[in-house]
Amino acid sequence: MDNDCLFCRIVAGEIPATVVHETATTLAFRDIDPKAPVHVLVIPKAHHGDVLALARDPQAAAEVLAASAEVAQAEGLTADGFRLIFNTGRHSGQEVFHVHAHVLGGRPLGPMVSG
Ligand code: AMP
Repeated sequence: MDNDCLFCRIVAGEIPATVVHETATTLAFRDIDPKAPVHVLVIPKAHHGDVLALARDPQAAAEVLAASAEVAQAEGLTADGFRLIFNTGRHSGQEVFHVHAHVLGGRPLGPMVSG
């Protein structure tokens, strides 16, 4: 655990979150500032800074992907579709440096990128 990491502190229970799915190695909780009717963040409990770091741990990567699919199913997103996003680095606007998959859906999501 990284004591300076917001999402590590959510995993540790030090900061509250609305948890919607949990496994031994992953946690999923609602985004505090949702950009769509469903906006859930799926994280590995272990600290990985971004998706590049996560990719170096294939088991953890697979677990995050599987948890994301289960969240999409549980949130009723699989019939109409959804978006799975890993913001990574400066150009993406990544704000929290504990890797997280954004699961977004519940309405048509528009173009993949703006501007
Ligand atoms: P990113 O820009 O990809 O790093 O996304 C970080 C996301 O974390 C944003 O969508 C924020 O709204 C969300 N966020 C920040 N703090 C919290 C929190 N305490 N609980 C839930 N989501 C959060």
